[in-house]
Amino acid sequence: MSAPSVETKQFATETKQILDMFADKLYQNKEVFLRELISNASDANDKFKTIALEKESLYGDDPDLKIWVMYDKEKRTVTVRDNGIGMDYDEVVSHLGTIARSGTKQFIEKMSQSEGSKGNLIGQFGVGFYSAFVVSDRVEVRTRRADLSEDEGVVWTSSGHDSYDVVKTKIASRGTQVIMHLRDDAKDFLEEWRLRKIITTYSDHISFPIIMFKEKELETDDKDATPPKEIVEEVVNQAKALWTLSKKDITDEQYEAFYKHISHDFNKPLTWSHNRVEGKYDYTNLLYIPTEAPFDMWNRDFKRGLKLYVQRVFILDDAEQLLPAYLRFVKGIVDSNDLPLNVSREVLQSSEAVETIKSSCIKRILSLLEHMAEKDSDKYQSFWDTFGAVLKEGPGEDFANKDRISKLLRFSSTKTEGSKQSRGLQDYVSSLKEGQDKIYYLTAESYQAASNSPHLELFKKRDIEVLLLTERVDEWLVSRLTEFDGKKLTAVTRGDIDLGDLGVTEEDKAKHEQNKQDFEDIIARVKTVLSDKIKDVRITERLTDSPSCVVADDDDVSSNLKRMLKDAGQDVPDSKPILELNPNHPLVEKLKVEVSEDRFAVMSEVLLGQAVLAEGGTLENPALFVQKMNGLLLEG
Ligand code: ADP
Ligand code: MG
Repeated sequence: MSAPSVETKQFATETKQILDMFADKLYQNKEVFLRELISNASDANDKFKTIALEKESLYGDDPDLKIWVMYDKEKRTVTVRDNGIGMDYDEVVSHLGTIARSGTKQFIEKMSQSEGSKGNLIGQFGVGFYSAFVVSDRVEVRTRRADLSEDEGVVWTSSGHDSYDVVKTKIASRGTQVIMHLRDDAKDFLEEWRLRKIITTYSDHISFPIIMFKEKELETDDKDATPPKEIVEEVVNQAKALWTLSKKDITDEQYEAFYKHISHDFNKPLTWSHNRVEGKYDYTNLLYIPTEAPFDMWNRDFKRGLKLYVQRVFILDDAEQLLPAYLRFVKGIVDSNDLPLNVSREVLQSSEAVETIKSSCIKRILSLLEHMAEKDSDKYQSFWDTFGAVLKEGPGEDFANKDRISKLLRFSSTKTEGSKQSRGLQDYVSSLKEGQDKIYYLTAESYQAASNSPHLELFKKRDIEVLLLTERVDEWLVSRLTEFDGKKLTAVTRGDIDLGDLGVTEEDKAKHEQNKQDFEDIIARVKTVLSDKIKDVRITERLTDSPSCVVADDDDVSSNLKRMLKDAGQDVPDSKPILELNPNHPLVEKLKVEVSEDRFAVMSEVLLGQAVLAEGGTLENPALFVQKMNGLLLEG
């Protein structure tokens, strides 16, 4: 048999771009490389345990799963080794040559923008392995898959530029060794204390022992002779699954380090909840709320869910069955004693134990958020600014917890400062105007459009608060959340707004009745002129400054939603708006006395056109509108 030949392969383009960034001499946080490689070693040991459940013989004569961190001053290398699952040839090529993840482009863009905090991004994106090149000018990976024979080992080497070499070779033991040949500027990692410190800082919680070799002097009878030395293994970390410890024995630093390990996020978590539950089902959960949103949270294939362990054995990542989509920002683990060790995603879907665990995880998170909202509103606000748009999916998705979620929602309103979403429904309701029995809101494309909308004029005049909803998810939210605390959520752009006696004087009422009569003829004429474009015309009290506005009929789709549907390429139900005119506006008064039928028609068109524009809509024929407008200007 001839010796297998070395193949040289090119890195995928995106990998190359990432490697270029890591090769940057100014790269900060160099030490993260060790955390990343230990994290991979730990994942590999976890995966080995999982496959060995079915085939115990895989343990062979190497039963204790460990991670070794070694260094060699002369050769100038640092090595991280595990006896986990290892990789076969194809896995080496696909895992260490390409980045098979969505959002790589976004990641690269973000990396090149943020100068100082690149360390935060590496782990988050899961390009962990390549961080070896932050400290090395050459990296060698020697690996053998646990279920393959000695002859099927693979060696991968690269200096982190354009290409890597890979070759099959004989490797005696299972698992992976990553040997890093340190660059000149990274020599200082060749110190035992330095490596130890990094391990205890970032990897203390890793549930496998992390081993460093140590020289130990042997006892001898001869007092004068230099004592003989022996090399022994020493465990550097705690080496216990963190969640199995009792809460009081875990420091905040340990909780934080564990979070970084499981989440691939370099930032500290905002808060967490750790619970052991005993009852019909026994399980432990440790749930974290991150501080920063992962950059791919809005990608369609964003991985959500918790890591699932069964009796301390890692089973699977991203178990989406354990969390609803509206809590997809939550990270953490669940360790169950009731699920079978060979549980699959399919089984999870229909398991009663999983349903119980899921609903308890939801309750824990909601309590955590409620507590934060109550005790530390600044912290809650920062949570809301980051994840509020996701939580807004909640009332539509989780009927059972609708009320609790609703109380956690925050919006901007006509009473909040600027566009900050800081107004809760509870607060809104507790400061209702006397006689007000509805919660008013306005949906629009932007805060700017919402806060300047003509539809708010009357509400401002009467000092009635209106929530300003300007996120895409808001339309969906208000279609699901129609009531809060017995008060109907009511769009101010819809229907015949009836404020009843709210802030109205007898005088106002009489005047409105009078106006209705006075304008009866005009309304009829406008209706005839615009009949193919509108559903109805009426006199309104809604406006104080603008001459006109358009509203949707009670059962019609709002114009904001129509715009969104159109943008998304969906069919939009064809409905015409209702045009409302402000009888107190000079333009409308002018219309009333207009004798020329032609000019009357042009003015009606212009009043309709500007109403559509004022609420951020678009005109079917903008050029014609401008032409008509100019005509009027010239005459004036
Ligand atoms: P991530 O850990 O987020 O998946 P990495 O860049 O750290 O990303 O690693 C890429 C992939 O390479 C891993 O998903 C795994 O498949 C493989 N890998 C890396 N290190 C090891 C190892 N020590 N043992 C087995 N596979 C590994
Ligand atoms: Mg990794």
